[in-house]
Formats: sequence, C-alpha cells, structure tokens
Amino acid sequence: MYGPQDPNDSYTVQQSAVDQKTIAAAPVYYDNEMLTPVQPQPAPAEKRRYPKWVRPVMIGLIVLILLEMIAALLLYTHTICIHKWQDATCQAPRTCSRCGKTEGGPASHRWLPATCSAPATCEVCGETSGACLPHTWQAADCTQPKTCAVCGMTEGTALGHQWSAADCETPRFCKICRASDGEPLGHDWADADCTHPRTCRRCGKTEGSPLEHQWLAATPKSPETCSVCGAKRGAALAVTLYGNGYVQTRTGSPLNLRETASTDGKVVATIPQHTNLDLYYFGRDDWYFVYYKTYSGYVSASYIQLGYYEEAAGHDEFMYGYVKTKGGKLNLRASTSTNSKSLAMIPNGTDLVLYWRDGDWYYTEYNGEYGFVSAKYIVLY
Ligand SMILES: [Zn+2]
Ligand SMILES: [Zn+2]
Ligand SMILES: [Zn+2]
Ligand SMILES: [Zn+2]
Ligand SMILES: [Zn+2]
Ligand SMILES: [Zn+2]
Repeated sequence: MYGPQDPNDSYTVQQSAVDQKTIAAAPVYYDNEMLTPVQPQPAPAEKRRYPKWVRPVMIGLIVLILLEMIAALLLYTHTICIHKWQDATCQAPRTCSRCGKTEGGPASHRWLPATCSAPATCEVCGETSGACLPHTWQAADCTQPKTCAVCGMTEGTALGHQWSAADCETPRFCKICRASDGEPLGHDWADADCTHPRTCRRCGKTEGSPLEHQWLAATPKSPETCSVCGAKRGAALAVTLYGNGYVQTRTGSPLNLRETASTDGKVVATIPQHTNLDLYYFGRDDWYFVYYKTYSGYVSASYIQLGYYEEAAGHDEFMYGYVKTKGGKLNLRASTSTNSKSLAMIPNGTDLVLYWRDGDWYYTEYNGEYGFVSAKYIVLY
C-alpha cells in the first residue's frame, strides 16, 4: 500500500519530468534584435490531471488506515477486547482467553465423599480436602491378616492355625477356626484279654467285652487258674495225704494223666512205666494228683506202686506269718518271679496264711486273690 506504486510518489516523478520536457521544448525568443536571448518565462503550472474527488478519498483512506492501526494496537495490547469467555472451573472464574479478564468467582468443586483410601476429592480438578476415613478393620484370623472390609487393605500377617494333635478318630484340627487337616490316626487296638475288652492303647476306647477266663482245675499247689491271664480263684486242693510212688502198669504201657479224676477226663499227657511221682491224695482213694513235667492232673491209683505216705495233718501243711517291709506294700505275684504280674499290694503288717513254700516264695491268699509273696518279707509266727 505504501510501496513504490504509491500514486503520490509517481505523481512527483512525473511532474518533474514534465517540467524539464516543457523547458527543453520551449521556443527561444530574442529581444530587440540584439539577439540577446530572452529568458524563457516559466510556463504556467499545469492543471491537475486526476479528478477532484481523489483527494478526499485518499484522505479518508489514510484516516481509515490510521484508525485501523490504532484499533489493532489497542486490540493487540488488550486495551480493548472482544472477549472470548471460557467457563468457570472449580479453580478459576469465567475467564477471557484473550485478555484474561475474569467474571464472578470459581465454580464450586464437585466433591466425591472421602473413603478409607482417599480423602474427599473433587472429581473435576482432583483437589482433595480433609483426611481419609478410618479403615473398617477386621481382626486377623488363621488364614487372613488384619483386613479392611471396605478397601481390602491388609496389615501384618495371618495368625496361622493352632493345630491340636490328631487322635484316633479325629484329624488334627485348628483350635481357633476348627479347620481340620489330614487323617485321624486310627485306633491302636490291643486284643481283648480275660479282664479287658479289645482296647485302644492310645485313647482307651473299648470294643466288645472281655474274654472268658480259661480256668484250669485247682491243684494242691494252686487254686483254679486262668491259662490265659494267670488269674486264680478259690483255694488250692485240700490235700489229706502226701505220698510217693512209681508207675506200674500191667502191660508196661504208659499211664494216662487226666485232667479230672475220672476215666472220662481228658488225657493231657502219658507217663512212662516206672516213672517216679509225688502223690497228692485228697479223699478219692482211687485217684492221685501228680505233677509230671509241665503237666499236672490225675492218675489212677490202680497203676501206681505206692512207696511211702503220710497224713497231711502231720505235714504242717499251712504256715502263718505277717508282712514285714520297710513300710511299703508287698506284691502278691502271679508266679514265683519278680517279673510276673502283680495281683495285689499287701500292706505292711498284714497277717497271711502261707499254703506252701516254693523256693524263696510263699503261696498265699489276700483279698480273694491267690498268688506268691517273696519269703524275704514274711516273718513266720
Ligand atoms: Zn478479553
Ligand atoms: Zn474441583
Ligand atoms: Zn480401608
Ligand atoms: Zn485355624
Ligand atoms: Zn484310639
Ligand atoms: Zn484270664
């Protein structure tokens, strides 16, 4: 607009050229024949070549351009502004993005309520307010640590189970939560005997009932005795006569040793001809009671050659004495061994009937039990 095409500039140049042309082309006049050249009179100024209305338009244009420049300057410096409003946010009021002018105050936050993991928070700008809510703790248990019921946060570790020992019928279980683990141990059965039913060695549970005693007949040395457990009942045979003799069969065949004093009695052993035997006579003159090896029983008197005999009354069969310990009780044992079963404990000072002596032992009775006591702790009357 203001470059070399400017009509004013070109106008100036053109005018100057016209002046020189006009001068060059002007006729030379001489005055008074003196040939003095007469100075040419400058030509009268030429009239403008553009129309009259151009000048006001030009001026108008220039004013307009100046106004425009002023307006641009004002706009540029934000002295005046065609506002371009941006909505208020929760941090800033309504604001002109051009000039920065504001109107009103910031919008209010849109608060989301506080939780145990976050304080109250504006969902728009993220600003927070206050503190988190407390966690809703659930106590730790066997398998879970202390845990927030709301957010699932945990603290510490689970307590772990407190296992009880497994028993025969129950697997091990947690004493706290009752969870169980593994298998029950199962019973450890001990067979039934004469006095106990089938019994678990571990828990004592029983099944069924005790077995029957297997009673062996009384002998002169022993009352009825259970062949399984050694229990005794009643009294030894009351012997009226002791003797000695040997087997004398007619044919030389062995002699039957029977369980009972009868030819119907079960044969428990056979005794060879001429075997020497101690004889116990107890009232049935056709049978003797004898011991043979590990057996005992009855033999027919018809096949015994009697040697000597004596009356039991004169044999001083029973002895009498009392228990003398250092104060403790004395064991009544099932047999003549300190390893044998203790049938009863006899208090110090107890009077006893001693049926016979067998080595270092006396056979006696206490509270209905028959058995042996060590002779070391017996003082005879
Ligand atoms: Zn503005
Ligand atoms: Zn906000
Ligand atoms: Zn929580
Ligand atoms: Zn548990
Ligand atoms: Zn058991
Ligand atoms: Zn028994």
